Amino acid sequence: MAERIIAAVEKFGNTSETVWHAFGYSAWEYGTPIMPRAGEKVRFWSDSPSHVGSFRHARDIITPDSLVKPLLIMAPQTGRVICLVQEHDVFGDGPDFSGYTNYITVQVGQSEFYEICHIGKGSVRVGVGDIVHKGEQIALTGANGWMTDRRHVHFMVARWKNRERTLFESLRIRFSGVGF
Ligand SMILES: [Zn+2]
Repeated sequence: MAERIIAAVEKFGNTSETVWHAFGYSAWEYGTPIMPRAGEKVRFWSDSPSHVGSFRHARDIITPDSLVKPLLIMAPQTGRVICLVQEHDVFGDGPDFSGYTNYITVQVGQSEFYEICHIGKGSVRVGVGDIVHKGEQIALTGANGWMTDRRHVHFMVARWKNRERTLFESLRIRFSGVGF
């Protein structure tokens, strides 16, 4: 572990961000992207076959069927939008459908970012380069990409492993509690 911290500090500088990352945790506390209604619990589903390798710590949040009842998605942390895809409405069971995933990627720190997948087609009002604030409504739930009858929002926090931002690994998300 000590070697990992030293390597991370040498690469990205001596910040609390690099130390949290060296332990495998997000450096920021996150809200939940979906706000439960009164009396509801946020339900996570962690046995997705797609949550392996660098996606290991991604979480799925079970939602009602967005084709029947779309829910608001809130920015779980403040950051800058660096990637946005929202033109798809094709979905199905299996990795062949992954290319049809709508998602938004938000840079939070020097090397930390989060990604929310399966956002509704055309539901995002911010663009690449814009700042989103924690708790701000950023999208609606949707049905696209690799998705079975268990409708969900896929949420991942990760860190870039290199300066070129081509390699990443998911982090254990530190939640600040339900809601914001
Ligand atoms: Zn997922």
